[in-house]
Amino acid sequence: MARNQYAVIGLGRFGTSIARRLHEAGQEVLGIDISEERVESAEPYVTDSAIADASEEKALTALGITNFDCVIVAIGDDIQSSILTAMLLKNLGIEKIIAKATSKRHGQVLETIGVNWVIYPERDMGERVANQLLSPNMLNYIELSKEYNIEEVLLPKKMIGKSLKELDIRAKFRVSVIAILRSSIDIIVSPSPDELLQPDDILVTIGNRNDLAKFASLE
Ligand code: ADP
Repeated sequence: MARNQYAVIGLGRFGTSIARRLHEAGQEVLGIDISEERVESAEPYVTDSAIADASEEKALTALGITNFDCVIVAIGDDIQSSILTAMLLKNLGIEKIIAKATSKRHGQVLETIGVNWVIYPERDMGERVANQLLSPNMLNYIELSKEYNIEEVLLPKKMIGKSLKELDIRAKFRVSVIAILRSSIDIIVSPSPDELLQPDDILVTIGNRNDLAKFASLE
């Protein structure tokens, strides 16, 4: 994987988790926080760190922020700082800005500024938990639109040993299987209708969220 330059502004739980994961994956991460204490505790998880008020343009430019491919604004409750920081980053021409929103209105402002990806961690996590409860076999998903998802679904037991053709999943559940993840051979992309399904296969499916929810709750 290519090394990218990330800057994470705000080293609370959210920012530190992002920084740590990127750092573990070998990426270069600059961690920034206004609090010395927060910067110190995040030091093991970042490549470089700085104590700075990111809502001040001078501080951002002194850190060479324009050299970063992606900047994550993980400032929590201080909405004013979050918005000011996002606006400065946008004006400085940062290509990819990701920001955490603590409320719908906060998120709307960030979107208006032109933040590329606004994240609502608590709302999104709550939705994930509910989706997992509704579809126990669903392992992971990507939202393609409000209605359509791609989901990884653990093969229901009663489908083991059967072929896709025999199961007629598309007609019966209005769900398309676009790939099969099989531990012994990695991945089968666009599986043939005659492919026999094996225990522990994970079906990569695409379809309407409600149809997928039904499919992923089969015994
Ligand atoms: P979390 O819910 O992720 O733990 P917090 O609100 O605790 O969120 O963390 C946000 C972090 O953002 C804090 O460590 C805070 O010091 C930092 N922060 C707030 N304002 C600024 C700012 N203007 N510049 C840099 N860091 C900031």
